[in-house]
Amino acid sequence: MLHLARNLASTVIAVCMMFVSTATPKRALAQNASAGANAVSRDCVKRLVSAYPDVLSHSSEDSLYWRNGVVMPLGGLTIPKNSQVLTTQEWEGFLDKATLRDQLAQCYPQPQSNGANDSIEAPSRNFDPGRIRYEPFFRTMYGATEEEVGKHLAPVRWLANIPEAAKNLLVTTVNGVNEKLKAVSDELEALPPEYRPYLVEPAGTFKWRTIAGTNRQSNHSFGAAIDIAIKFSDYWHWKVSAEDQYPYKNRIPLAIVRIFEKHGFIWGGRWYHYDTMHFEYRPELLTKECGCSQP
Ligand SMILES: [Zn+2]
Repeated sequence: MLHLARNLASTVIAVCMMFVSTATPKRALAQNASAGANAVSRDCVKRLVSAYPDVLSHSSEDSLYWRNGVVMPLGGLTIPKNSQVLTTQEWEGFLDKATLRDQLAQCYPQPQSNGANDSIEAPSRNFDPGRIRYEPFFRTMYGATEEEVGKHLAPVRWLANIPEAAKNLLVTTVNGVNEKLKAVSDELEALPPEYRPYLVEPAGTFKWRTIAGTNRQSNHSFGAAIDIAIKFSDYWHWKVSAEDQYPYKNRIPLAIVRIFEKHGFIWGGRWYHYDTMHFEYRPELLTKECGCSQP
C-alpha cells in the first residue's frame, strides 16, 4: 500500500497539491489527471522563491524573476504521466530536457517532525525527487563556468573539532551554503562515536564535471554538493542490470541524513536511482509551503 501511494506521488501534480495528504489514492489520481501545469506554478514556484531569497525575487504564472535581472521561463510540465513504467533510458531522456516546472514536480519525502514513520523506504520506480534539475537554474545561481563558480568558493572546516579528521572542503558561499554545511558538520561531529566512520574522509565537494553517463552537469560543479563515506556508499549506476532493475540498497544511517536535511540538503538515498553518499543543497524541496506531503 505504501508502495502504491508512493507511486501515485511520483505521478507529479498531485504531489504538490494540498489535497494529497487527505485524498484517497483513487481520488488523488483522478484530480491528478485533470490538474493543469499551473498546479505546480502557483504554489510550488513560491516555495522555490522563498527557498533562495538572496537570489530570487518573485514569480509570475510562467516566469521566475531573479534579483540579477534574469527572467527565466518556468516551461511546461513535461514529466511523463507514466513515469513509473519508463525504462531508465527513457527516464534519463526526460531528465536531459526537464523544465524548471518539472524540477518541482516530484515531492521530496518530508522529515517527520514527530518522528513517526522515521525510516528509510525504498523509492518506487523513477521516483527521483531532486534529481530532476533544470540546469540553467543552477548555472544562473552558482556560475555558468568553472571559473565563475570558483569566484564564490570558500573553505569549510569539516569536523573542525576532531583534529585527526578535520579538513577543508570547498563549497559555494552563494545562498550561504558554506555556513549551512558548517552547521551540518557541527551537528555531525556531536553524534556518538559509532557514526564517525561515515563522516571521516568525505569523498568530495566541488568538482566541475558531468554526471556519469550523461551530458548533464553534476551539482558538484556548482559547489553545492558533498559526497560522504565512499566506503559505505551505494550507487544505482554501479549495478549493471540487464533487466533495468536497481534494487535499493543503503548503508548510511538515518541520523546523518536527518542532520543534512535539517539544514537544506537533500539526500541521493531517497531516489530510485540512488546515490547514497550524495547530498546537495536544495532547500526548495524541504519546505511544506506548497502543501505537498508524503503518502
Ligand atoms: Zn555526489
